[in-house]
Amino acid sequence: MADGAAPRGDVSDRVTDLLQTLLGTQAVQSYVGGAFVSGAGQSLDLTDPATGKVFAQYSDAGPDVVAQAGQAAEAAQKEWWAKTASERGRIMFEIGRQIRAHAEPLSQLEALSTGRPIRDAGGEPARMAEMFEYYAGWCDKITGDVIPVPSTHLNYTRHEPIGVVAQITPWNAPLFTCCWQVAPAICAGNAVILKPSELTPLSSIVIGVLCEKAGVPRGLVNVLAGAGPTTGQAMVDHPATGLVVFVGSAAAGSAIAARAALKPMPSVLELGGKSANIIFPDADIDRAVIGAQAAIFASCGQSCVAGSRLLVHRSVHAEVVEKLATASARIPVGMPMDPTTQIGPVNNQAQWTKIDAMVRDAVDQGAVLTTGGGKPDALSDSGGFFFAPTVLDHVRQDMTIARDEVFGPVLSVLTFDDEAEAVAIANATPYGLAGAVWTQDVGRAHRMAAQVRAGTFWVNSYKTINVMSPFGGFGRSGYGRSSGREALAAYTQTKSVWVETAETPAIGFGYAPG
Ligand code: NAD
Repeated sequence: MADGAAPRGDVSDRVTDLLQTLLGTQAVQSYVGGAFVSGAGQSLDLTDPATGKVFAQYSDAGPDVVAQAGQAAEAAQKEWWAKTASERGRIMFEIGRQIRAHAEPLSQLEALSTGRPIRDAGGEPARMAEMFEYYAGWCDKITGDVIPVPSTHLNYTRHEPIGVVAQITPWNAPLFTCCWQVAPAICAGNAVILKPSELTPLSSIVIGVLCEKAGVPRGLVNVLAGAGPTTGQAMVDHPATGLVVFVGSAAAGSAIAARAALKPMPSVLELGGKSANIIFPDADIDRAVIGAQAAIFASCGQSCVAGSRLLVHRSVHAEVVEKLATASARIPVGMPMDPTTQIGPVNNQAQWTKIDAMVRDAVDQGAVLTTGGGKPDALSDSGGFFFAPTVLDHVRQDMTIARDEVFGPVLSVLTFDDEAEAVAIANATPYGLAGAVWTQDVGRAHRMAAQVRAGTFWVNSYKTINVMSPFGGFGRSGYGRSSGREALAAYTQTKSVWVETAETPAIGFGYAPG
């Protein structure tokens, strides 16, 4: 298929129609400075996860497109920052309205091109709109302080934008992650160059176009279709980039942060996890079993906060595993556009192969497969990347599956005897993204919340996050926060302004040495 050519085939036809409706073009291109631009790099495929068939091809954006985006972003940022804060807020509210107005085709595009079930993707645009609406409200509330310094100066602070921010996102929830990152960045007065995963660029390109429809200057939100080591790296290296925000694997995140440090420039890293979901015997066991399924099987386990380690008190272990295995085997796995589907395909073949290998290895090391493993029988003829919801029992701490992120629908069950052991197992990982406890003892709930090392912790719940609340990792799960009020600290730099107010200044007092 020619570069940027219209996609073909069943999903291809539907994606073509949606791209035409949402973008006014059928080609897959980067959106830079308010125009569609073709890349000059290697040819990249977009594959339908539900059939395994390629439905479009495009060329990697590459350094020349990055250079165009850098120039467009620098100019647009100046224009954006010159507007009043209230005007920026009004435009951000309008972005929310644009997303709501295009909710149906946007969620269909996301489901078809990423494999996310439509029952999940269908609700996403409303949440994306909320992200822009929340930060719209912050635009005119980013205020500095007046500091009572011990001199005749008036000293005050200004929170100024970084300028141009590079944002790099993964394939598991591209629409959600794009809006989650773009909204706080532009709220704080920055321009953005965002590169979604080369496997799932489409919905992010639509967001770039909708931002401009809402009234942001051309070039404020640029979205590049391209690969990591080429386009992504050129974004990090571009002289205009003043901050890199990376969402993805710990390995790529470390490499990018190291490169950023050479400039030097700051980075925000949202990386992987190996989160512990802990069930005590005093919990409402039926609710905990439902919660454990939601924690690991939502998004087919391709979620950074997935509750991939289930820690169960030995006294209720048999009951929990029996209920969990029975219920998990009944979860509808199927085509993304079927409204009854709860678990869709894994996003790509490489990820499917990795998940399968990790499950086989765990069984070889002594884990017991209670349900799932491999492709579900009912979908064995499909070319799609389906993986049955899988529960591995009798997992031990020394097994690879207990330590490494799977990023698939695979739950590892471990047992503990008391609170101290539960905390020790929960924290026996370099990651620290999320965790949860199921208990009716309020004191125990707070003790666990205080002791488990994680950026997000739930009590008798799992997976709820919201743009209003800070989200980010401890340890190997990353640093910096990309939601809530705290995200604005990452996206601004503080300037301290000193104004001499004395008629006759006391020269020598309060001046910096040297
Ligand atoms: P990945 O690290 O392979 O890729 C993520 C992004 O980085 C992609 O856009 C990719 O093109 C780009 N990239 C890769 N190498 C690069 C380089 N050298 N320079 C610049 N860019 C580069 O991750 P993935 O496989 O796409 O996603 C899965 C991972 O993402 C999992 O580990 C998951 O836990 C993590 N994740 C974390 C969060 C969070 O908020 N903490 C959210 C979603 C996913």
